[in-house]
Amino acid sequence: MFERILYPTDFSDVSKKVLDCVKELRKSGTQEVVILHVIDQKQLDFMFYDTVKSLDTEAELHRRAQEDMRPIVDELNRWGLTTKVRTETADPFREIVRIEEEEGVSLIVIGSHGKSNLEEMLLGSVSEKVVRKARGPVLVVKR
Ligand code: ATP
Ligand code: MN
Repeated sequence: MFERILYPTDFSDVSKKVLDCVKELRKSGTQEVVILHVIDQKQLDFMFYDTVKSLDTEAELHRRAQEDMRPIVDELNRWGLTTKVRTETADPFREIVRIEEEEGVSLIVIGSHGKSNLEEMLLGSVSEKVVRKARGPVLVVKR
């Protein structure tokens, strides 16, 4: 049923916990995982005013994200899953639901929380908006 799935990651501890669940889905027929990291356009704009410098920074952030994805790819491949890696600069939640459609995945597997991981929040802002706006099913893995 969930042959191709989307795994958006912010490389947080919660996100790592999500990976265990993604691996388990192999047993339910999942074959390919699209791994997505979104570099937040707003944060990038906020950090740097200088255009040239921000282009450098953006490239560097993409390079680092690709690097951080390598062990995830290796682990999933070892588990018998094929992978596709994407890093994009955009608004994280909007990009996640856009890629859901573009890639034609049948499930999004996301963490309830991410890097901020605030105690009093039921869901992080990205996961909340993804649950609201995704077209298909969303599996939310609790922290
Ligand atoms: P907030 O960002 O609202 O302060 P938070 O960081 O605790 O709270 P979210 O950002 O909503 O929580 O993260 C929940 C999940 O959403 C993460 O576990 C991850 O799966 C996904 N996610 C969050 N940010 C990104 C991102 N930039 N790229 C890809 N996936 C992301
Ligand atoms: Mn976050």
